[in-house]
Amino acid sequence: MTLAGKTAVVTGGSRGIGRAVVAELRALGANVVFSYAGNADAAEETADATGAVAVKADAADPAGAQALVDAAVDAFGSVDILVNNTGITRDGLLMTMKEDAFDAVIATNLKGAFLTMKAVCRPMMKARWGRIVNLSSVVGLRGNAGQANYSASKAGIIGLTKSAAKELATRDVTVNAVAPGFIDTDMTAALPEKAREELLKSIPMARLGQPEDVAHLVAFLCSEEAGYITGQVVCVDGGMAV
Ligand code: NDP
Repeated sequence: MTLAGKTAVVTGGSRGIGRAVVAELRALGANVVFSYAGNADAAEETADATGAVAVKADAADPAGAQALVDAAVDAFGSVDILVNNTGITRDGLLMTMKEDAFDAVIATNLKGAFLTMKAVCRPMMKARWGRIVNLSSVVGLRGNAGQANYSASKAGIIGLTKSAAKELATRDVTVNAVAPGFIDTDMTAALPEKAREELLKSIPMARLGQPEDVAHLVAFLCSEEAGYITGQVVCVDGGMAV
């Protein structure tokens, strides 16, 4: 499998799953431009380690999405692959969840994916080749108490993915979603120990996944070999959603 000659844009590529995706796409020979929100040290570390290009761009900002895609086209002449990886949480029970916590999560996780997809549509359709992979979550399939906003954003990603897959299929642009379970990143490190123990009980494989477990699948879905797979949601979750 090779991605030599392809250019990829990865949102939220500076840490966690995004960083593993950046590293894997680079290892397969792709040029990679990735975004981050504010942690410049992590972005620099990822850029130095992988040879990818870091761009500070807020996922929820339409101008940021366009600037990110423009940066890839300016640097490498095309954008062939988009991985919408950015995700945030603002957890709380529905009864007490503030509107701004709901709006922020939908704006970053769901609208952010829409904005970058919109920005890559034209160049990918023109090139008659493209790969879009959106990070959903097992929580988008099953729901989770305390995560109404996050679950809604991740369920929305699935609808967005399937609709775009149907719109872009005749141009050989595939659009798929990957739904991780419980992966060992900063996002899950923030969970209280008791919540981690409970979550572990719901995983048949009885362990957390690593960012690389997700990155392997993302890279495959970006490859030539995955060209007849579109509109799918694939779980990487140790059996959690079964
Ligand atoms: P992390 O919190 O570890 O990393 C998030 C990344 O997104 C960072 O690079 C961060 O940049 C960037 N980011 C955050 N907000 C923005 C923004 N507004 N604009 C641009 N970039 C931003 O997340 P994970 O690696 O854990 O998760 C990656 C994806 O996988 C997310 O979509 C998440 O919902 C999904 N997922 C994760 C699971 C898990 O168990 N970890 C399970 C299921 C799904 P910066 O460093 O600058 O903040």
